[in-house]
Amino acid sequence: MSRTQAPHPSERRLPDEVQAELLRHMTSDGEPQSEQRIFVNRTLRMESVRCVGFDLDWTLADYQRLPFERLMFDLTIERLIEHHGHPAAVRDLGFRPDFPQRGLLIDKQAGTVLRMSRHRFVNLAYFGRERLNRDELKRLYRYEPIQPASGRFYHIDSLFELPETNIYAELVEASKTLPALAERGYPRLFEDVRAAIDWVHAAGTLKSRVLADTDRYLRRDRLLAIALLRLRLGGRPLILLTNSNWEYASGLCSFLFDGLLPGLESWRQLFDLVIVEAGKPDFFRHDRPFTSLDRDGEPKGEAKLPEWGGSYSGGCLEGLMRRIDLPGEQVLYVGDHIYGDAVTSKQESTWRIALIVRELEAEICARLELGRQSGRHIQLMRELGTLGHELDHVRDQVALGGSLAETTAAFDRADLEAWRQRFADVGRRHRRGLRQLAESAEQLDAAYHPYWGSLFKQGTSKTRFAGQLDSYACLYTARARNFAFYGSQHYYRVARDPMMHELEDLEADD
Ligand SMILES: [Mg+2]
Repeated sequence: MSRTQAPHPSERRLPDEVQAELLRHMTSDGEPQSEQRIFVNRTLRMESVRCVGFDLDWTLADYQRLPFERLMFDLTIERLIEHHGHPAAVRDLGFRPDFPQRGLLIDKQAGTVLRMSRHRFVNLAYFGRERLNRDELKRLYRYEPIQPASGRFYHIDSLFELPETNIYAELVEASKTLPALAERGYPRLFEDVRAAIDWVHAAGTLKSRVLADTDRYLRRDRLLAIALLRLRLGGRPLILLTNSNWEYASGLCSFLFDGLLPGLESWRQLFDLVIVEAGKPDFFRHDRPFTSLDRDGEPKGEAKLPEWGGSYSGGCLEGLMRRIDLPGEQVLYVGDHIYGDAVTSKQESTWRIALIVRELEAEICARLELGRQSGRHIQLMRELGTLGHELDHVRDQVALGGSLAETTAAFDRADLEAWRQRFADVGRRHRRGLRQLAESAEQLDAAYHPYWGSLFKQGTSKTRFAGQLDSYACLYTARARNFAFYGSQHYYRVARDPMMHELEDLEADD
């Protein structure tokens, strides 16, 4: 790394008390608990990672979901009534935090919320509170290929977007009985919600309420600070790169870190460079200047390149990489937004990505509890596969026998009758197996999520979200604090990444 300026801030020695605290939490006795593990899609040697960047919201700032979503919900509803002319009855919409899930799509044209597999197959959708039946799903999503990137669809890519999914579904439900909403139409209802949510974020209402009552919305976590300190070992610089503004970012970081560990007086000790209002994903795509900020976040002037130790707003990937002066693959970025943090940065750079998937803890717990039931489900699938093969053969035997009976005088019709009886019997068992499998799948899904099932699986396929996670994140874990359980130079190895034909061999070996 070229350093023509002042000594690099990460060269400062950690206070002795912090080093002592760090030592107390270091683990060397094997893997952490399942829900605290970091999972590996692509091998990553931390030895080769020379710089780590962090997003703030939902990455370092791990919000308390219920109070935070309730606040967003209430502020957005008031905005819809006061500014967008929605009827006062909208205040009665149901706050249903258990309804939305990350990775869903909103179909603005049809007024639905839907789940899609990575093969763009839609098997589940709700119109308001009503689950669509197979015929409706077929009518809406099976005749033409779905274009998820078109303006018709809105992607729920981060936890920030869950409340708007809740509100939109409730507005669609309410529009069935409220003419004032019905006459707006589904696309307009969606645009109203989007505009109201944007206002809640941009006007500062949400942020000022959070800053005024941080204890209610966030938790301080010593392990998070330890994770950052551990990653800094060996002089590896850390960067904070967030879309939030200075006032909010510094307020949150002060709450999260100041005075948290002995010797850690200020959050600024943790980061060697701070970039706020980054405007991701545009940060990765467009050339924009940095604005230098003083210690209080006041703008000091434009800067082409950020300096180590400084704080900036705006900027762009190109300027940041010129300052870092390393190949992109030696930078690890930790974020939670599948598109803004992972997809775009992967498309525009060679950064390695770790995605924070907060839902992973609940998924892993559900998966562990479902152990036996999952085994029974897999067994049902195998039995059904065998029955399906048998049904195929018997069906063709019946067809062949029927044809021979018509054309061959010597054909023994008793044989054909026996085949027909066997076909009826296998068909009955196959239909019973299909019903059992569907019931088992519903039970498993409900254990993960009451409306959508697992965040990662759609039947036997991966969900669209899981597909993106696979493709764009080298690592994924439930919380940024989990880096505290791994060495700063840990070798994250892919356990296995088999093709389907290899998987059969692995299952046979189990
Ligand atoms: Mg974020």
